[in-house]
This record gives sequence, structure tokens and C-alpha cells, in this order.
Amino acid sequence: MTTLSDTGRDTEPGTFKAQAGAGPQNPPSARAEALIEQSDAHTAHNYHPLPVVIAEADGAWVTDVDGNRYLDMLAGYSALNFGHRNPVLLAAAREQLGRVTLTSRAFHHDQFGPFVAELAELCGKQAALPMNSGAEAVETALKTARKWGYQVKGVPEDRAQIITCEGNFHGRTLSIVSFSTDPDARHEFGPFTPGFVSVPYGDAAAIEAAITDDTVAILLEPIQGEAGVLVPPEGYLAAVREICTRRGILMMADEIQSGLGRTGYTFACDYENVVPDVYILGKALGGGILPVSAVVADRDVLGVFAPGEHGSTFGGNPLACAVGRAVVGLLATGEYQSRAQKLGTHLHEALAKLPPEMVREVRGRGLWAGVDIDPGFGTGREISEKLMARGVLAKDTHGSTIRMAPPLVVTAEDLDWAVLQLQSALG
Ligand SMILES: *Cc1c(COP(=O)(O)O)cnc(C)c1O
Repeated sequence: MTTLSDTGRDTEPGTFKAQAGAGPQNPPSARAEALIEQSDAHTAHNYHPLPVVIAEADGAWVTDVDGNRYLDMLAGYSALNFGHRNPVLLAAAREQLGRVTLTSRAFHHDQFGPFVAELAELCGKQAALPMNSGAEAVETALKTARKWGYQVKGVPEDRAQIITCEGNFHGRTLSIVSFSTDPDARHEFGPFTPGFVSVPYGDAAAIEAAITDDTVAILLEPIQGEAGVLVPPEGYLAAVREICTRRGILMMADEIQSGLGRTGYTFACDYENVVPDVYILGKALGGGILPVSAVVADRDVLGVFAPGEHGSTFGGNPLACAVGRAVVGLLATGEYQSRAQKLGTHLHEALAKLPPEMVREVRGRGLWAGVDIDPGFGTGREISEKLMARGVLAKDTHGSTIRMAPPLVVTAEDLDWAVLQLQSALG
């Protein structure tokens, strides 16, 4: 069994000392500027990255090409829950690199069975279907729900409806942006996939009212990440669970960002002791090393697929399964969850002490916070740039909301220091 202290970060905070030498001590070099110009010139401008060029990383800290160090308060949108280059996960990857990395699902390999069994067990389910990106897992869940609707529920073919929530973020494929309510995600990408109905987030009665004989599922984030770390009202998830059971539709929880330790629980649904019918996982499942996603459910749900009806060349490859197994192993100890709970309380207490004129609202759970800054202090982008100048990498979500979601290996001192930098950046 692996413990957190095996990573060394718990016992030797000095190695990654927050205050010492953090932030841009060195001005951007010609090389850094050339690298930024090169990416601007040769890729689509679908992102607006902060002007930092990362060359190395360890734990909760990254170093840029000029040797400047920054605390990573984004953690790859929660893909890096276990820290950069987590030694346990790297060891699993290295071991597998020396054996076999890809077979395709045309053949069996010796990591697949153990991975799906261990992941299903972590979720308290019978089966798991591995994919690669989060969006691909969401698509897989949508296809599962439709097939389940036709085969098990008896919905007439091509009539299935899936309920989704306003403000959602589930990825970028055409079918997924078809039910996005973010104009930027949709504009000039139509025509869209039909079969989705949108209801306000956090309103269980609205879900009940939207259900028809053709409804097969509700897809929701237990906490809406990209929308600004929106936590639904107490009892919402339990109410949705009850409605889904009573009305015979699938509850599908997109735990791609909220799951795998982030909130202080294995899944954000655990907070209300809710078990959805379908878990959608991604991001941290790949340990920050490679994309690994999965749909996890019981056999009566995932059993709807027959050979040839769905697939992925890379989904469930040996390297992905080996890393995914190591991730499940880390979560099985419960140490990352309790760390996120403890440090999350610490982070939220520190954020609560920020001057009230600076901060309108702080939301979140565990090591996850959406901080609404008074817009008078700047846009989220401007504040993120000021934080970067102070050695903290964070990302705005909407408007003046700063998201704080550090790797779960972060220390209490790191967090105090990050909050102090936020306060000075605003001051
Ligand atoms: C990031 C994210 C996705 C999409 O994952 P990708 O790997 O970027 O395709 C889906 N749902 C949620 C909640 C996410 O945060």
C-alpha cells in the first residue's frame, strides 16, 4: 500500500518551499517570448494561455523555461489531483512502458481486466468502460443512456430525451455543445444534435417537471466546475436520486472534474450519500500522465452494448490501464480524500478572511474554490495575470471568478501563501 508520505511532499515541504524564490525573479527571456510567438503562429487560437512557458514540474509546483517557480493552483483542471509527476504513478507508467503499451481491444491484455474490476469496485459498480478524453466518456454515457432507453425502458426508437442542466460543461464535441448553454461554445457550430432538454441547475422540481415517457436520463455535474464552482443547494443530489429511481430514468453524474478526491470525497455525490446509476470519470483518472476516462455502471446498464456498437482504438490501452490502476490504488487508501477535506477546510478558512470589499462570494467544497472578486478589482484574466506575476498560476472561469483547485499534494503553507498573494494582487 502506498501512502501520501511516500511521495515525500508531506514530510519535506522545504523541498518545495512556497515563499523561497517563487514568482518571476527572472524577466521573460527571448526564448520564452519566441516559444509563445511560435505557438501563436502555428496553432488555432482556441485558448488564451497565460504568458508562462512551463518546462518542468513536481508536486504542486512548476518551473518555467527561465527558472521561475510557480504554485499550480489549477492542477490541469483537476487532471493533476495527485500532483505533477507523482512518483507512484510514474513508477506504474515506467513499469508498463517496459512491457506493452498498446494492443487495441481486438486482443485482451493483462492490465485491462484488473483495471475495469478495480475501478468498478472503487465506484461500487459492476462494470467500467474505458475511453480516453472526458468528452468521449460523456458521449459514451449519452449513447449508453439512449440504448438503455430503447432496450430496457422500451422508449420508441429515435425518441429518447436526455435532461441536462443550464450552465453545464461536459466537453466540446458536437453533441455535447448541442446542450451547452454557453454562447461561445455553440456559436457557428450548428446544426446541433437533437434529443436534449435543459433545466435550471440546482432545481430538482424542474427535472421532475421535464420528465416525459421518452426521458431516459438526467446528466449533471454534482458541482458545476466551469460555471464557477457552483455548489447546488443541500439535498439536491438526493432529491435527483429519488426522482430518477421513482420515474425510472438514469442518474448520470459527470464527476470528471469533481471526482477522484477533489472535494474531500472519492466522488462529489458521496457528500449526500448519493450513488448515481452512471459515473463519468476522466481527468485525474489518467494521473496527470495520459488521458484516461471511463463510464462506470452496473451490468444492466453497460450491458446494452454488443460488439461493433461502440469502441475506441486507444480506450483501455495497457499504459492507460496501468496508470489508472495506480490511481485507483491511491484513492483506495482514502488518504487523498482526507487530505483534501482537511486542507480544503484550511483553504476555505483562509479565503473567508479576505477583506469583504474584495470578495463577493466564495463557493466550493474540499480543495476546490470559486472566488468571485469584486469586478472593480479587474477581470478574472487581469487578476490571473497579477497572480502569475506573484508566482501563483490560477485561471478565471466566468467574469471575475478565480478558480482555486491545487493538486491535493499541496501543503497548508502553500495555500496560506497563495491566498496572501491573491490579497496582495488585489490590494
Ligand atoms: C473537463 C471536463 C470534461 C471534458 O473533458 P475533456 O477531457 O477535456 O474532454 C467534461 N466534463 C467535465 C465536468 C469537465 O470538467
